[in-house]
Amino acid sequence: MYDALVIGAGPGGYVAAIKLAQRGKHVAVVERSHLGGTCTNWGCIPTKAMLTSAHLYKSMVEKAAELGVSAERVVPDFSKIKSHMNKSVVASRKGIEYLFKKNGVELILGDAIVESPNSVSVAGKKIEARHLVIATGSVPILFPPFNEVAGIWTSDDVFKMDRLPESVLIVGGGVIGVELATFFSSLNVKVVLVELLEHILPNEDVDAAQIVARSLKRKGVEIYESSKLISIQPVENGYRSVIETREGQLEKRTEKIIVAVGRKPNVTEDIKVLGVAIERGIKTDATMRTNIPNVYAVGDIRGQIMLAHVAMYEAIVAAKNICGEAIEMDYSAVPNVIFTDPEVASVGVKQKDVDPSAVKVFSFPITANGRARTMLEREGFAKFIADARTGKILGATVVGPYATELIMEAAIAVKHGLTAEQLEEVIHPHPTLSEMMLGAIEGIVEKPIHL
Ligand code: FAD
Repeated sequence: MYDALVIGAGPGGYVAAIKLAQRGKHVAVVERSHLGGTCTNWGCIPTKAMLTSAHLYKSMVEKAAELGVSAERVVPDFSKIKSHMNKSVVASRKGIEYLFKKNGVELILGDAIVESPNSVSVAGKKIEARHLVIATGSVPILFPPFNEVAGIWTSDDVFKMDRLPESVLIVGGGVIGVELATFFSSLNVKVVLVELLEHILPNEDVDAAQIVARSLKRKGVEIYESSKLISIQPVENGYRSVIETREGQLEKRTEKIIVAVGRKPNVTEDIKVLGVAIERGIKTDATMRTNIPNVYAVGDIRGQIMLAHVAMYEAIVAAKNICGEAIEMDYSAVPNVIFTDPEVASVGVKQKDVDPSAVKVFSFPITANGRARTMLEREGFAKFIADARTGKILGATVVGPYATELIMEAAIAVKHGLTAEQLEEVIHPHPTLSEMMLGAIEGIVEKPIHL
């Protein structure tokens, strides 16, 4: 009998297994597909590999001449972009395989069917464990009319394509839709982006979303916000779609349609029969324990914050609790990272969600940052939100190159309740983009020097 059996080897499952093994537990993971789950195979890694190629191409076209680098025939080669993507995915899978071996995690390949709180069956073989960790992830959401028309893509299909389409209509202007719009439009594919809510990236503040929208429009993307795709008809070499916009209905013809309207937890019949409480996804308490005391659930299967780093952290919390250490999940400082051009990252509260009289907000523009000037970067800002009374950092949004890395300074501040004064006391290196962060912090404390 294993101490713990983990179902699913995505970021939630593989991290839980390694942590448990590092703490001396006898652990096995059942995986029916590839190590790394959605993130490694159909999510974080392939999108970021493809976007790295797209960003490089775009910056060579837009910046090389001004930076004094002559690059005469800069052309994207999709087969090589795909090969870079595949190599990144395979290397990441192999990395997890290596870590399993190094830590003594057993891998069982196959489809796990949960039979009881202490056992699952894989290809008819019963496997028993003292604890189960369910980390079976999520699947793309498809509803009418999208699931009624043949050939409609989800993000999964994008990674299988052998050539770039001439045009795509992307339904959903959330993180996945906007990253895909960035990829395709950077490589000169005609993109139409339809978002139901008032603005693309609806979870972010409007000032951040507007910069991304402007950048996409410069790449030729047609964006329809507060709009809905109401019908699709297959036609020769593609689809004819009708979009209901603020101004009335319009028709678009594109070669492909990609639906990126979200994902739902992969709650299967055996999980329901097991008797774990389900509320959107599997319900757990803050220790990741379900209503069945020895059964834990982590990651997308919970149907809450569907991010790889959240799955990984939940996995650590579950593993520590299984090992007898009583700790709880804290979601106060979850960074959001969006690999658009420019990048967007945020953590903690957003300006749109707080009472303006209770906070102090300062936004420092990228145009006042020396390092950004040397990089020919002109679009972006760093914005901090602090408690008006205590000066504690409550949240931040960063838009600009490497925003996805810069956000960590704010994440540490939010997580540990640091004040703007404490951050200001930290020497920020010059010339770096991190001085944008300093500028915003100075703006909260007193006045920024460089504005
Ligand atoms: P998953 O990664 O989905 O893993 C679940 C695993 O369980 C799978 O390998 C599956 O095969 C296996 N499984 C399921 N059922 C069974 C069974 N019965 N038996 C055996 N195995 C089973 N997140 C970020 O943080 N940053 C990003 O940049 C990012 N980009 C993304 C881009 C795209 C296009 C998509 C789709 C997602 C992206 N995400 C990103 C989200 C991220 O991929 C998920 O939040 C993360 O993978 C969730 O991890 P998980 O372990 O919960 O589930």
